[in-house]
Amino acid sequence: MGEKHGRLVVISGPSGAGKTSVCRALKQDPAVEFSVSATTRQMRDGERDGIDYHFLTTEDFQRRLRENQFLESATYNGNMYGTPRWPMDAALARGKTFLVEIEVAGTRQLRERGVEGLYVFIEPPSLAELRRRLERRGSNSPEEIEQRVRIAEQEIAAAHESFGGRPLYDVFLVNDDLERTIAQVRELLEL
Ligand code: 5GP
Repeated sequence: MGEKHGRLVVISGPSGAGKTSVCRALKQDPAVEFSVSATTRQMRDGERDGIDYHFLTTEDFQRRLRENQFLESATYNGNMYGTPRWPMDAALARGKTFLVEIEVAGTRQLRERGVEGLYVFIEPPSLAELRRRLERRGSNSPEEIEQRVRIAEQEIAAAHESFGGRPLYDVFLVNDDLERTIAQVRELLEL
């Protein structure tokens, strides 16, 4: 009774939709804490273990999965990802807004488990615009760009599938202007 209790916010969206930029902006806010996922994928340049992800071997990831250490987990593009359980409980108990950036299959698991929160999906204005953004970024080969656009198309379709007769996400934001999208997310999160 009378305990402060924070709020879970789930953010999803395809690569190139602007999700990472939105999350980066929110990281500045002291009321927000971020989930650090575990993953089996290779560390990219500039990433730090324990900050961007907990980079695990497949064996270690699977052991933790068996030990029920993850709130949800999914395989994405051949690598495993999972949200560790306890940081969320700790953050919510301290009244924080706890932000979890995950893909659609993981979101579905959270819904299935009845995890309460605000579920937000950030989408690009169109697949053509997404392709342009990925090209402009210049960090992927044409084949990788095509693959990412295909994955994005599937993710957007999956995000719009309903869950138990209701939308999987509470809010769909079309990111055609990053600053405006950040402002919309801040308003939703009451920051
Ligand atoms: P990336 O490898 O580019 O950092 O992330 C690939 C995808 O995995 C992104 O859509 C990201 O949101 C998602 N992801 C990151 N961590 C998790 C996690 O713990 N669980 C799930 N289900 N997806 C995650």
